[in-house]
Amino acid sequence: EPELAGDFGTLMVWADALRRMKVRTNAETPADCKMARQFGAEGIGLCRTEHMFFDAGRIKAVRQMILAEEDTARKAALDILLPEQRADFTAIFEVMAGLPCTIRLLDPPLHEFLPTQDADFEELSDVTGLGVDHLKRRAAELHEFNPMLGHRGCRLGITFPEIYEMQARAIFEAVCDVKASSGEAPLPEIMIPLVATRKELAILKALVDQVAKEVFAEMGTSVEYLVGTMIELPRAALMAGEIAKEGAFFSFGTNDLTQTTLGVSRDDSAKFLAPYVEKGIFARDPFVSLDVEGVGQLVELAAERGRVTRPNIKLGICGEHGGDPASIAFCEKVGLDYVSASPYRVPIARLAAAQATLK
Ligand code: PEP
Ligand code: MG
Repeated sequence: EPELAGDFGTLMVWADALRRMKVRTNAETPADCKMARQFGAEGIGLCRTEHMFFDAGRIKAVRQMILAEEDTARKAALDILLPEQRADFTAIFEVMAGLPCTIRLLDPPLHEFLPTQDADFEELSDVTGLGVDHLKRRAAELHEFNPMLGHRGCRLGITFPEIYEMQARAIFEAVCDVKASSGEAPLPEIMIPLVATRKELAILKALVDQVAKEVFAEMGTSVEYLVGTMIELPRAALMAGEIAKEGAFFSFGTNDLTQTTLGVSRDDSAKFLAPYVEKGIFARDPFVSLDVEGVGQLVELAAERGRVTRPNIKLGICGEHGGDPASIAFCEKVGLDYVSASPYRVPIARLAAAQATLK
């Protein structure tokens, strides 16, 4: 039984016949993917992989990987994480067979992974054989005063390439598994977060391509895939023409792009933005409805510059704005290929995309 039945279902059929943009979902669990498909999602626009690492066993392995400076301890941690990630992605790909799935490589602020309690350091010391003092010193070296502007996104991939290598391997192994078992593989779109420069993307794309080659050789099969990037920093938007030389797609991360363009913390804005809206400084909360005059210019400019370099570049949006009707109207104007919204907003996005096409 489809979720959207009766008159509402009929309305959605009409909307789908009209709209130009595809509607995908932001989802990171098989349950959310299933629900989003019932609501009509046509792929995953953003699978955040951060939360996959927070269960007790995995966070220990991640800490071991980050704090142990010695190869065997790091390798042991990756050996724990790889099969877990392979299972995560297999479960998601089974639900999304045949559809494009944008999987974003790890993008947490590093401090979320660092231990703080003595007990955690002691446990880690038992597992790795490294002294508690050594581990604490290493954690102190990695401490940051402003983690949201720090060691996150692709910066982690540059400094800890093993993590991205492990994730890429898990993704390719999972796609090949699903292709073998169902005959229908999804299209993985591997997405690099928080890119500011062409070189960052070039280095990490080369790493992903190398892993793909290895996995395809080992498994005796191959699948299509794309490597692309988030555009979520003003520098990336400005340099989109260069960045498009490496990336086959752009996904606009308008949460961070709003934060970094306005210089307003996305985690603290609620504390002072209400008077801004009351006084008409912003018509609506810019973290809910895209600031089309300011942030929107960067989106438009990046889309244009990206297309000059790569006329068929795939363009989408995966910030919260991808589920907001006014922002969706703007995405249509800019000519994005798809919007991506959280599962419950997928029907709204389908209607809004159709209204935008009609207009
Ligand atoms: C964004 O920044 O808009 C985005 C989608 O990524 P995240 O919210 O995970 O930072
Ligand atoms: Mg972001």
